[in-house]
Amino acid sequence: MGLFNNIPTDPPIEVFHLTELFNQDANPSKVNLGIGVYQDENGRTLTLPVVRSVEQQMAQDLTLTKNYLKGTGLDAFCTACLKLVLGEQSPAIVENRACSIQSLSGTGAIRIGLDFLYRNGFRTAYVSSPTWGNHDSILQTIGFEIRKYRYWSKDKLTLDIDGFIADLEAAPEKSVILLHACAHNPTGCDPSREQWIRISDTCKSRQLFPFFDMAYQGFSSGDLDQDAWAIRYFGHEAKHELFVAQSFAKNFSLYNERIGHLVGVFESRDIIPKFRTQMATIIRRNYSNPPAHGAYIVATILNNPTLYGEWKNNVRAMHERIHSMRQLFYNKLKQLGTPGTWEHIIQQTGMFAYTGLNPRQCQVLIQQHHIYIMSDGRINVCAITQRNADEVAQKFYEVIT
Ligand code: PMP
Repeated sequence: MGLFNNIPTDPPIEVFHLTELFNQDANPSKVNLGIGVYQDENGRTLTLPVVRSVEQQMAQDLTLTKNYLKGTGLDAFCTACLKLVLGEQSPAIVENRACSIQSLSGTGAIRIGLDFLYRNGFRTAYVSSPTWGNHDSILQTIGFEIRKYRYWSKDKLTLDIDGFIADLEAAPEKSVILLHACAHNPTGCDPSREQWIRISDTCKSRQLFPFFDMAYQGFSSGDLDQDAWAIRYFGHEAKHELFVAQSFAKNFSLYNERIGHLVGVFESRDIIPKFRTQMATIIRRNYSNPPAHGAYIVATILNNPTLYGEWKNNVRAMHERIHSMRQLFYNKLKQLGTPGTWEHIIQQTGMFAYTGLNPRQCQVLIQQHHIYIMSDGRINVCAITQRNADEVAQKFYEVIT
């Protein structure tokens, strides 16, 4: 009798399962609107030109070795990342109250940040309803009590700011509030600046801890600084202590390099050395030290003004393509006379559109039309191209009517 004969089977992870089904589908007109990966007009996920040129340089650099990095990461990377998130003139940086720890992409940053909070007494965490599914999974694995704050109004197809604030007001002190810094996944709907200020005020008065998840800096507005506005407002103007988990998967197109970092901003610089020792412990017990390749790439680009400028252009180009596909898809749905309002598609930002399709309509799209879509109706807008837009819109029209 084997020791593992009776282990349970876990359910598949929806987004990866969808991709497997898509890969197995032999239909030539199939489209994968599921996974959140940037694609160009030809459906390819290419290495960014600026990343390619840095990699070519790195291949010639004999000083680069495969020796271990420190557990907390590459200093040149972490220092540059802090400025990218908090801004060059950040008071928290000047006063040495901020610190960045390299992580295994955004997921890893969320994980080590939440591990730190749990081991320091935080027990309750709030996530938006809906949110990226892995938030709940990570929180649950660590042992947090998970609560939801209202976010998306299904009826109004927009942000339910009053519900959001009311739920924060009812939250116990020292709750962790997971916030999407920009380009909310899955809804593509972010608070306005006035709304962010209300959220900040409520977190302050209720003593809640803001934990920003920033997986899409640059994808919401095309501008890296604008997309960091909420974080900077919370950190500088409102003087919150906060965390930011940043991913470079999307904006550097470095998905499989697992490169990101966790930022901590604290009231006092005295916290930083203690925070670092705890992070070193957490990392040591999990994976000991992070991979270096992506860190070298990002550090090289962020620390060189010319390369930085090129990268900003690359990010803007991705944003513009997504934006124009949003408009194209909207136009097609309108031209067909598809029932319902579709303005939300063009009002939303970032990589995703939250279409409002129900799970049954999504199922029909997959099974009868070879359009692969998440069951909550979220679509990756950049999977739409000039070539497939007519057909995708037509199929949406058919499942809706
Ligand atoms: N947070 C959100 C909201 C995301 O959408 C993603 C990417 N799907 C991540 C974090 C982290 O992804 P990664 O670990 O690949 O950086």
